[in-house]
Amino acid sequence: MLRPEAPGMPFWLPNGTTLLHLIEDEVRDQLRKRDYKEIATPQVLDEGLWHRSGHWDNYKDEMYFMQDDDKRYALRPMNCPGACLVYGSDRHSYRELPLRLAEFGRVSRNEREGVLHGLLRVRAFTQDDAHVYCTEDQITAEVASICEAIDELYARFGFDDVKVELSTRPDKSMGSEEQWAKAEAALAEALGSQDREYELNPGDGAFYGPKIDFHITDALGRSWQCGTCQLDFQMPERFDLSYTGADDAAHRPVMIHRALLGSMERFAGILIEHYAGRFPTWLAPVQAIVLPISDRHNEYARRAHDELRDLGVRVAIDDRSESVGRKIRDASLGRYPYMLVVGDREQENGGVAVRSHADGDVGELSVAEFADRIAKETAS
Ligand SMILES: [Zn+2]
Repeated sequence: MLRPEAPGMPFWLPNGTTLLHLIEDEVRDQLRKRDYKEIATPQVLDEGLWHRSGHWDNYKDEMYFMQDDDKRYALRPMNCPGACLVYGSDRHSYRELPLRLAEFGRVSRNEREGVLHGLLRVRAFTQDDAHVYCTEDQITAEVASICEAIDELYARFGFDDVKVELSTRPDKSMGSEEQWAKAEAALAEALGSQDREYELNPGDGAFYGPKIDFHITDALGRSWQCGTCQLDFQMPERFDLSYTGADDAAHRPVMIHRALLGSMERFAGILIEHYAGRFPTWLAPVQAIVLPISDRHNEYARRAHDELRDLGVRVAIDDRSESVGRKIRDASLGRYPYMLVVGDREQENGGVAVRSHADGDVGELSVAEFADRIAKETAS
């Protein structure tokens, strides 16, 4: 839901919030598999921090500021400085690297009202963000692992057509010519090591480093930029980050900023369009709706609903005093993968009459059999 009280800042209703959580679960699977550690850092941070990070010089027009007595704060437009404070709060040995700190980080950007567009261009969103601190030698393997995570994740959601772009130094940027050349070469080498085809996008990098962007094509043939992987030699410098090398001396780590899906909310918007609101069972916020034929079946319908819920099915019930024909029509508009009609016979047998959107009439199943079917479908 979008409201004039908060332009470009979506309200998430229950089904949408469930969808966001389901997407998050898939991202967390990747975090687990690839040894990321999850952190959570503040959304409001002292203005001085943004001077230090370089955001003030390069990004302040898109930031929200606030004043409290004599202190000035900013709402974070990116999660990087928070991650750097976490890294810098402790000593690190080369043996801990790569140190991968992930955060589902809520960010706010003051986009002009004219460019706002549904869930696809907003002012407040959550990035599936991570910052990887590593040595220069580890860049290639780390970038390759990020590309692999993106491939796996996009395939899971039904996107197989992924385009890759390498963006280089923009006009407004920090760091020396030499640092940029080194960073751009490192990313090109990582892509080359995987035999990946990519396009060069000159001048479109982040202000702190070059980046690789990942674009997906949806069911309507439209292209969306989602994942990103950015190399950064600047921020470790600005935050004076270090690790102790095998030689016992202090060294500067390299920082990789990466997001697999980019904005979680935007990705949810792309998915809604991609599936035209008709999600596969594993991703549907409500997987099945129980439809009692008449009021006298409501009590049994409620019992079946509760049992399914306890067996892990995301289930709803329509126990209004409407004809079953009306309930079925309304449920079709709700685009649920399954309708479960219950009348005298189902009540007697302890079952549900199953109608699948994909397979049509499935016939009567016991409550446990239906829950099993959902579990199998979700797992596959
Ligand atoms: Zn970052």
